[in-house]
Amino acid sequence: KKDIIIIGAGGVGRVVAYKCAEQKETFGRILLASRTKSKCDEIKEAIGDDRITTASIDAMDTPAVVQLIKEFGADLVIHVALPYQDLAIMDACLEAGVHYLDTANYEPEDEAKFEYKWQWAYHDKYKESGIMGLLGCGFDPGVTSIFTAYAAKHYFDEIQYLDIVDCNAGDHGHPFATNFNPEINIREVTQKGKYWENGQWVETEPHQFMKELTYPGIGPKNSYLIYHEELESLVKNFPTIKRARFWMTFSDEYLTHLRVIQNIGMADIEPINYEGKQIVPIQFLKAVLPDPKTLGTNYKGWTSIGCRIRGVKDGQERTLYIYNNTNHEVAYEETGTQGVSYTTGVPAMIGAKMMMTGQWMKSGVFNVEEFDPDPFMEELNKNGLPWEVEQDIDLEL
Ligand code: NDP
Repeated sequence: KKDIIIIGAGGVGRVVAYKCAEQKETFGRILLASRTKSKCDEIKEAIGDDRITTASIDAMDTPAVVQLIKEFGADLVIHVALPYQDLAIMDACLEAGVHYLDTANYEPEDEAKFEYKWQWAYHDKYKESGIMGLLGCGFDPGVTSIFTAYAAKHYFDEIQYLDIVDCNAGDHGHPFATNFNPEINIREVTQKGKYWENGQWVETEPHQFMKELTYPGIGPKNSYLIYHEELESLVKNFPTIKRARFWMTFSDEYLTHLRVIQNIGMADIEPINYEGKQIVPIQFLKAVLPDPKTLGTNYKGWTSIGCRIRGVKDGQERTLYIYNNTNHEVAYEETGTQGVSYTTGVPAMIGAKMMMTGQWMKSGVFNVEEFDPDPFMEELNKNGLPWEVEQDIDLEL
């Protein structure tokens, strides 16, 4: 059995802890560590498993993380704190000689720009040390990339057009709230859009392109083209792709709030001086918005995330839609948190299981689509994220 450290005790950390504790065959001791230890203790209490211990850690403090890993004797660190800490934790894993997994790619705190280049640069160092880093193993990135790999393996000779569609048709009853960390979320959705076409990136204004797309079991929803990080690795790993885009649903109400927040400067990441104290507007905003963790209580409805793919098989054009629908209430009942944290935390556990059972194990830094999708897809069905495949349908795109 393998001993693991989970860093981060937000909504996602909570689901990862629940799901890893269930995998008694694979995981032994579990250390849940985060900046605020009381949040770890609360999760440990809720799960009620004495293999879980807790600790306080500042993940930016690499020597402290190294010490924590060595004292505990971990085989793997699952990082589900924030993307700002990716490199600090990757450094710690390198120094301590343990494997690493995360769900979001590195973003410098002062730049609002996420790219894989910083993490891919660790590949040789990880390879030489005989350890593995698995990047982006949540839902998107994560499952969407594995759906693509699965489609490429079983349904296509060549994937040519890829549209990842992400719908949250849930209702949490608040006029405005974000489903995961507000700072990360608002930074992501307010930046310019970008998609891949004919070998290059095409930039768009924020929310410039909108299409009404119909989601299974949900119905039509306005979906906006945004940039999303898995596009970067997918077009690299599947070079036959001619066009790759990402669409996310936003309600008019959500967009109106977002526009106001931006117009009045509350989404800014530059510190301002307020009564002699430096404050970052978006961090202050985070402090007044509902904590995503608390949204679960009254969250109703479904998420639906998947890949709409067009390509060629045996000389014929073919379309495929592969997706998962998750119910917020069911997720809450099982883990005490809403569907967005659930759809992120379950794949992180499965990725950890793939690594710790040796099914996905090689030295270096990798994205999830570089491994055999089949065992992962099987685990999704067993662990609360069942998926569906529809063939030769109108993709609307
Ligand atoms: P939350 O904000 O709810 O939780 C983040 C946790 O990290 C908190 O417990 C926080 O502690 C802790 N933390 C923050 N900074 C540090 C630090 N320096 N040292 C130690 N702990 C720290 O976020 P979520 O749980 O919603 O999201 C977690 C991650 O999952 C994020 O990286 C997010 O981008 C990613 N994600 C990925 C998705 C995917 O599909 N791939 C989808 C959704 C999220 P404290 O409480 O003290 O602030």
